[in-house]
Amino acid sequence: MLENLYRLVRDVPDFPKPGILFRDITPLLLSPPAFRLAVDQLVEPFRSDGITKVVAIESRGFVFGAPVALALGAGLVLVRKPSKLPAATRRVEYQLEYGKDVLEVHADALTASDRVLIVDDVLATGGTAAATVWLVEQAGSQLLGLGMLLELADLGGRARVGAHRRMHSVLRYPRP
Ligand code: AMP
Repeated sequence: MLENLYRLVRDVPDFPKPGILFRDITPLLLSPPAFRLAVDQLVEPFRSDGITKVVAIESRGFVFGAPVALALGAGLVLVRKPSKLPAATRRVEYQLEYGKDVLEVHADALTASDRVLIVDDVLATGGTAAATVWLVEQAGSQLLGLGMLLELADLGGRARVGAHRRMHSVLRYPRP
C-alpha cells in the first residue's frame, strides 16, 4: 500500500542546489487515491487524541495540514514566512546551515487550551519543525505530536525536534 506512495515521490538530484537530492511529492498530489492514502496515514495515529488545532508549516505543509485538520475536526493554524500574516504575530528565529530564518504565527491562533498536531511534508534537519514546536509551546498549547509525510532519517531531524516527541512519518528515507 505504502509502496504506491513511495513510487509517487520523485527524486530530483541537485535541486535547489548541487548535492541536494530533492524528494518531490507533487506526483503524489496528482493521484487522488494516493493523496487520500497519504492524508489517512497522517491522521490515523492522532485520531483519538482530541486534537483541537492542526499547525501547518508553509508551504507544502499547508497542502497536507488542511485535509488533516478537516479529518480530525480541528482548526487549521498557518505558520508562515515573515510578513505574510496580516494581523498581530508571534515570531521565532532559527538557525539554518548558513544564516537565519524566521517563522510567524497569528498571536491569537493558539491558546493554552489547545491540543496541537504539527504537520509538514518533509522532516529534514528538523530546524523548521523545532522552531514550530517552540511557537506552539510558547503559546501555552499542548503538543500531542508531529506528522510528516516524509522523513529524511539520516539528517537527524528527530533528535533536533527532541527524541521524547511523538513523531510520526508516513514514508522514510533511507527505505526501511
Ligand atoms: P528542515 O528544516 O531541514 O527539516 O527542512 C525544512 C523544509 O525544507 C522541509 O519542510 C522541506 O519542505 C524542505 N526540504 C528540506 N530538504 C528537502 C529534500 N531533500 N527534499 C524535499 N524537501 C526538502
